[in-house]
Amino acid sequence: MSNIVAIVGRPNVGKSTLFNRLIGKRQAIIDDVSGVTRDRQYGSAHWNGHEFVVVDTGGFVEGSQDVFEKEIRAQVRIAIDESAVIIFLVDVETGETDLDQEVATLLRNSNKPVILAVNKVDNSHRFIDAQEMWGMGFASTHFISSASGSGTGELLDEAVSHLTDDNELETDLPKIAIVGQPNVGKSTFTNVLLGEDRNIVTEIAGTTRDSIHTKYNLYGKEFFIIDTAGIRKKQKVHEDLEFYSVMRAIRAIEEADVCALLIDARTGIEAQDMSIFRLAQKRNKGIAIFVNKWDLIEKETNTARDFELEIKRRIAPFTDVPIVFISALEKIRIFKTVEILLHIYENKIKKISTSKLNDVLLPIIQNTPPPAHRGNMIKVKYITQMTASHPVFAFFCNHPDHIRESYKLFLENQIRANFDFSGVKISLVFKDK
Ligand code: GDP
Ligand code: GDP
Repeated sequence: MSNIVAIVGRPNVGKSTLFNRLIGKRQAIIDDVSGVTRDRQYGSAHWNGHEFVVVDTGGFVEGSQDVFEKEIRAQVRIAIDESAVIIFLVDVETGETDLDQEVATLLRNSNKPVILAVNKVDNSHRFIDAQEMWGMGFASTHFISSASGSGTGELLDEAVSHLTDDNELETDLPKIAIVGQPNVGKSTFTNVLLGEDRNIVTEIAGTTRDSIHTKYNLYGKEFFIIDTAGIRKKQKVHEDLEFYSVMRAIRAIEEADVCALLIDARTGIEAQDMSIFRLAQKRNKGIAIFVNKWDLIEKETNTARDFELEIKRRIAPFTDVPIVFISALEKIRIFKTVEILLHIYENKIKKISTSKLNDVLLPIIQNTPPPAHRGNMIKVKYITQMTASHPVFAFFCNHPDHIRESYKLFLENQIRANFDFSGVKISLVFKDK
């Protein structure tokens, strides 16, 4: 099951306003990553203990009115296929339009849960007007104002009730997703991995249509490749549709422990690659970057080094990410990619003992203590790694709220310098003691 909540609806009903509201709150509290582009159309959110991804389908559309409407229909179909629940947004100001009706028909004929959300219900007058939307025939109808936020809590309550947090694939083995833009070489790479040495053990058809996870055994190391809706058998229908590839990437990331982000050596890391990277980072997934089609690049002495520096500049501040230059076509450094992905998985689940952490970090902190807060010394008493899906370190100290960002970064760098956490995000929390 995917845990994607898709917002669909025609232009100007308020999709991006709702999207920003659903994503924005989390951003303010939890987002520790700066430099995320404003114009992205998907992001992670949480509500009542559920973690999920919100997709605003509107942002992907360009072109004339005709193209626009055709695209919207295509996107609604994809949203139906790929998401767990759909929020169908309409606008009380304009009332129900022809396009609304068309979308409604598509949605009613799907077997996905659909929540009708009537937007711009800013006051009691509009609340009365909005009642006519019951006529659209959706048992689940909410009246909201995305601008003020009213009604959005109840909307989310219902949306998350349709999510299953259980992973589609119950296994303790590492789950690896291969993600990247169309034509970067995902299928070629996957086929090389799966084809070599005849190491395939089993193929398990996922519960979702077309989703196949392949168990792979490499010199005694077993792992799963998450193939969400056919990286290998390409779906020609949707192939060129940007939105489809984005949905597919989101789902693969959600199901994975570690993501192999393929980028094209000829273009370098692009805005879309960055969106995928940030999503994987935000969802606490392990990440490696594989620069594919390296065979096509004319190399000079520093080509790889310069390329790597540019990637690191873009992905900062999370730069402790393995970068490998590969050719899926010519099977160059494929084995290394597998080693790295499994190593990242080990880093993600490894636990450093409290005594080891304190032995290493306390002397460093003593030498370079946190800057005082209003003349008060901040003293770190001890550090421990918490149990979580990725490495989280708790620093027990006085004045935990007054540790500066720059000092947190310093501590993270010290952890990374002393213990190998390459490819995984680490989080630091500061607690009163
Ligand atoms: P999208 O094209 O569906 O993504 O729509 P936008 O989010 O860009 O919103 C279109 C317009 O509706 C903007 O001018 C928003 O400020 C406005 N809008 C969005 N939500 C509300 C709302 O709850 N109440 C009112 N009055 N206006 C809203
Ligand atoms: P996907 O859409 O990401 O699955 O990409 P494909 O695996 O279908 O690859 C797209 C095209 O790039 C195909 O023509 C591949 O043969 C080609 N390709 C993939 N990997 C490489 C590579 O390492 N080097 C070169 N030169 N071409 C590649």
